[in-house]
Amino acid sequence: MPDLNQNLRRVRAAIDEACRAHGREPAEVQLLAVSKGQPVAAIRAMAGLGQRAFGENYVQEGLAKIEALADLGLEWHYIGRLQSNKAALVAAHFAVCQSVDRPKLVEALARARRDDQPPLQILLQVNVDGEAGKGGIEPAQLPPLARLVAECPTLRLRGLMAIPEPHPDPSVRRQAFERLAALQAELRAEHPGIDTLSMGMSDDYVEAIAAGSTMVRVGTALFGPRTATPT
Ligand SMILES: *Cc1c(COP(=O)(O)O)cnc(C)c1O
Repeated sequence: MPDLNQNLRRVRAAIDEACRAHGREPAEVQLLAVSKGQPVAAIRAMAGLGQRAFGENYVQEGLAKIEALADLGLEWHYIGRLQSNKAALVAAHFAVCQSVDRPKLVEALARARRDDQPPLQILLQVNVDGEAGKGGIEPAQLPPLARLVAECPTLRLRGLMAIPEPHPDPSVRRQAFERLAALQAELRAEHPGIDTLSMGMSDDYVEAIAAGSTMVRVGTALFGPRTATPT
């Protein structure tokens, strides 16, 4: 296993440094450990180092880990593409769904989340690059989708998420993040309660923090290369 303690300290230190460089408090930026393709033992070890929030991309893989690690009381985020016919499983077992991008999915999640659970927290995934065929909703469609989520008592709208195209030029990467931050600011005029801007991965979380990210989703920089193949 890679040195998880060292990796976690290094990523946390880089987050703190990026915050200081941009006049932000480190407490404003939450670290989501992306554990897809990582073994249960590595997640358990990372939890032992104090990390509480983990992200998974595949429903079956995520459910198996949630069950295996139920004793730890971790916070699980679903961050992968989600078919409507698997929405009920995500609604039943995850705390947060970050990849919501269409009304049909909102309706399926809302129906399946039980009244006796806390509301499922929702991030709307936005296609900030404007490329056809990518996951995420077009920015113009965002206001009606946000309204739909806000009207569902079993859901709670928390903010936006994006996965911009990787780009070698940090300033180009930063522009995509700034577009998402601007969309979030617009949306907040109508939904003052939203507070989460999920953007930035292992290769670009520093630029994302510069642009206002409140949640960075980091996988390989924490766990090393992914081992298990996704199912
Ligand atoms: C895999 C993944 C990540 C983490 O990617 P790394 O480059 O390993 O940090 C973050 N967000 C999403 C949506 C992912 O699918």
